[in-house]
Amino acid sequence: MARPQAAISACLLGKRCRYDGSDNRDVKLLGKLEGYELIPFCPEDHCFGTPRPTMDLVETKQGIRALSNLTGADLSPPVERYAADFFDAHPEIDLFIGKDRSPSCGVCSARLYDREKQLIRSDASGLMAAEAKRRGIECWDAEDFVAAHPAPPILGS
Ligand code: SF4
Repeated sequence: MARPQAAISACLLGKRCRYDGSDNRDVKLLGKLEGYELIPFCPEDHCFGTPRPTMDLVETKQGIRALSNLTGADLSPPVERYAADFFDAHPEIDLFIGKDRSPSCGVCSARLYDREKQLIRSDASGLMAAEAKRRGIECWDAEDFVAAHPAPPILGS
């Protein structure tokens, strides 16, 4: 029988695709996903390469946009296109695990700013996670998933 599929931020698997070329490998998380076929994604590496300038989510008149912290340019369109193409190519995904706080991958943990760079809230969805939610996929921030799936007790101890 085919294993369930989990889409997962590639940096959590150990891919060095963060803006500064580092990773977010999370051994605890990976241990809890052993039954899944893992399908990695990284919209920012795909769209902008690594290393790259950072971006933030900003509330604008056009809605929530990801703006470059270097140039102020709206970087949302290629990320949103990548997200749509990714989920179109993987229609069987059961679970989405995103890196906490990322403006692309965070599920309920991304920071949202106003135009003056004042923090509005810290529970926004990154652009890729927002697309996963729109498609009705079960979505988790990585840290929440680990916390909600504790290790079974060790018998006999
Ligand atoms: S959080 Fe998402 S966009 Fe950022 S490095 Fe990880 S996979 Fe790529």
